Amino acid sequence: MRVAVASGKGGTGKTTVAVNLAYFNGIDLFDLDVEEPNCHIFFRGESREEAVFRKVPKIEEDKCNFCGICRDVCEFNAIVVLKDKAYTFPELCHSCGACSYFCPKGAIVEVNKRIGKVVEVRSNVRLTYGVLEIGEAQPTPLMRAVKRRMGRKAIIDCPPGASCPLVESVLDADFCILVCEPTPFSYHDLKLVMEVMRKIGKPFGVVINKYGLPFDIESKVDAPILGRIPFKREIAEKYSKGELLTEYEEVFGEIYDRVREL
Ligand code: SF4
Ligand code: SF4
Repeated sequence: MRVAVASGKGGTGKTTVAVNLAYFNGIDLFDLDVEEPNCHIFFRGESREEAVFRKVPKIEEDKCNFCGICRDVCEFNAIVVLKDKAYTFPELCHSCGACSYFCPKGAIVEVNKRIGKVVEVRSNVRLTYGVLEIGEAQPTPLMRAVKRRMGRKAIIDCPPGASCPLVESVLDADFCILVCEPTPFSYHDLKLVMEVMRKIGKPFGVVINKYGLPFDIESKVDAPILGRIPFKREIAEKYSKGELLTEYEEVFGEIYDRVREL
């Protein structure tokens, strides 16, 4: 079973749930928050890295007749062709290959652009995560490179938000845990993520972090409650030091059991 851990709003405790679920249930962990990975803070150990690239076009102007076909077929405005000059914008390119396919002069070659790296750590659990290159606008190709290393049993730490990176990270999951906290902001974002889950047909349940704060989120949530993590200063302190919540092993065991039941 692959279980994704997501939350609309950042800082709700998504990573706390993901790292402790992986550790206490002995499951491989995949951090798909490639723009800001942080699961590795909890699992130090021997690591190995592999660079990840994607293809972007390079125009060889000595072969080009500046017809503009490549510009016209590009859905992402990643090519500009002037009277006697052609420019490519790799940051906008989605590596679809249409420009080189349709170029009548064979003037476009595809070159590698480094987009980041995948790191594997052997620690208490096996952790795999991606680190996006600074300035790279598209996280999904690197997320896919991390996902290619995923087996049938995995915990996935998803990026925050409710847009494309979230959808990409939950696509291969069998179940999604949505982490929220009892605040109006968190409830607002939780509703957006629940809507996304329903639209893509992904089964999900909710974990309430910082349980005990005065805002009543529980009676408003129209989904199974998988667990509650209490609002305690010691939990925040442990998180800030990169420590696992050893006193709460039972809580994370019960969350995973509940996911299995569902
Ligand atoms: S399609 Fe080929 S020949 Fe035409 S402008 Fe683009 S690179 Fe040049
Ligand atoms: S590969 Fe696709 S997205 Fe990239 S420049 Fe060519 S047509 Fe545009």
